[in-house]
Amino acid sequence: MSDPQPALKPIPITRPWMDEREAEAARRPISKGWVTQGPEVAAFETEFAQAVGARHACAVSNCTTALHLALLAVGVGPGDEVITVSHSFVATASSIRYCGALPVFVDIEPATFNMDPRSIEPAVSPRTKAILVVHQVGMPCDLRQILAIAVRHGLPVIEDAACAAGSQILWNGAWERIGKPHGDIACFSFHPRKLLTTGDGGMLTTANPAYDARFRAQRQHGMSIPDTVRHGANRVIFEEYPELGYNCRLTDIQAAVGREQLKKLPEILVRRRSLAGRYRKLLANIEGLALPVEPDWARTNWQSFCVRLPEACDQGAIMQTLLDQGIATRRGIMNAHRERAYPEGTWRPGGPLTESEAAQDHCIILPLYHDMTETDQDRVAAALQSALSAIQR
Ligand SMILES: *Cc1c(COP(=O)(O)O)cnc(C)c1O
Repeated sequence: MSDPQPALKPIPITRPWMDEREAEAARRPISKGWVTQGPEVAAFETEFAQAVGARHACAVSNCTTALHLALLAVGVGPGDEVITVSHSFVATASSIRYCGALPVFVDIEPATFNMDPRSIEPAVSPRTKAILVVHQVGMPCDLRQILAIAVRHGLPVIEDAACAAGSQILWNGAWERIGKPHGDIACFSFHPRKLLTTGDGGMLTTANPAYDARFRAQRQHGMSIPDTVRHGANRVIFEEYPELGYNCRLTDIQAAVGREQLKKLPEILVRRRSLAGRYRKLLANIEGLALPVEPDWARTNWQSFCVRLPEACDQGAIMQTLLDQGIATRRGIMNAHRERAYPEGTWRPGGPLTESEAAQDHCIILPLYHDMTETDQDRVAAALQSALSAIQR
């Protein structure tokens, strides 16, 4: 087959915004010779805490690890249950299983893809130890209602804020950043699929100094004294290992990159809001297509722009049509309970998961990244429109 048209430039689902500033920052620890969990990590923690309005921030190797440490800190262990959503990246539920506990899956609200507060109470059992909420693709979940329920049952709330750096929630009349945190602990990711990246990386934020101290010990093999203290000491210090720990260190090379990324966050947020607003206009008139909903008490960071296709429409076929034109998309967020790694017995349904499954089956995520051009965005919108009209004809 001959193709007379030149191949169109591929449009990826995402692309991190990195340049010489990050490359230069990475040189710093390398030329100084302190390359893991040292002064750059400490500075990144301070700056991140300030950016989200948190009292404490502790850097770790990724968000999955952060979730694991957060659950351990609130006392989740074998035989316990943790209420969460199945409709999330698999790491959310897996972190519960790392503790030997059982994820109890509850449904989402179709408009926001976030935990439906009404689904929580029917799922509570005598074994419930915590609630793990997700700010899905950066959209704040209904923390006000969820925290009220948690308080009623004496349950700690952990926020999976992997995608939510820079997202905001209206709290007592003022906009506050996700990660303050409003629950007990929030966990962030710096994987390249998120707004800020250090390659891999994570952060735990909390207002509780005891939790923070525990994270700091556990991320470094349960050691009683961090390297930074031993290094600066002018007397010999012997460390101790009072409890089982892990190695979840972030490197100083990663932290140096993260500090540059953090400086870009305000600009990234402005850009993504503008691109999301453009998508909204470009896609407004496509029949049967539902656009993402931002409640009036939430400001998402638009980590993803997720649209819902008409019921009768073949999700895979639409995605393939776009891919044939060089446009990458992703299906709606996965459901852990539908995966083979989650056989019966490894989780418990806390109620129906109808909306969770429908969101996975009928939604697609469109390309959105900081330096996406308006021309490319127009191309995505036009391709989606023509793919949908071809199917409906
Ligand atoms: C990306 C993501 C994670 C995992 O983050 P890593 O840093 O890759 O471990 C966990 N939960 C959610 C909701 C995510 O989107």
